[in-house]
Amino acid sequence: MTRQRELILQILRQSDRHLTADEIFFLAKLKLPSIAMATVYNNLNAMSEAGVIGRVHTDGGADCFERTTEKHDHLLCDGCGRLTNVRFPGLEAQLRETLGQEIESYDLTVHCLCRECRSRR
Ligand SMILES: [Zn+2]
Ligand SMILES: [Zn+2]
Repeated sequence: MTRQRELILQILRQSDRHLTADEIFFLAKLKLPSIAMATVYNNLNAMSEAGVIGRVHTDGGADCFERTTEKHDHLLCDGCGRLTNVRFPGLEAQLRETLGQEIESYDLTVHCLCRECRSRR
């Protein structure tokens, strides 16, 4: 593993948030000032394709990366854009049952207003 890849992986493992490529680039640059944006992108692409890290597509926004690769769903705050991992244990079985067939995958983002955003209104 290259030093750059190790650093990017370390950044993701130390964070419990979803990070955009830009945020990862910023954090990586603090440790390794010579690192290039393209290197960060290439490593993120390669690692998410290999299933080492998770990748989240957000509507309109930039893709986010995270250390968890386990299947989970997302709660998105429409106020501040905060993305939280959530699990709905029986959901996949329920989808299969309702549809009466096997499913390949599903993508679920629940939109909400987090407590802080709600109190600001
Ligand atoms: Zn919020
Ligand atoms: Zn997630």
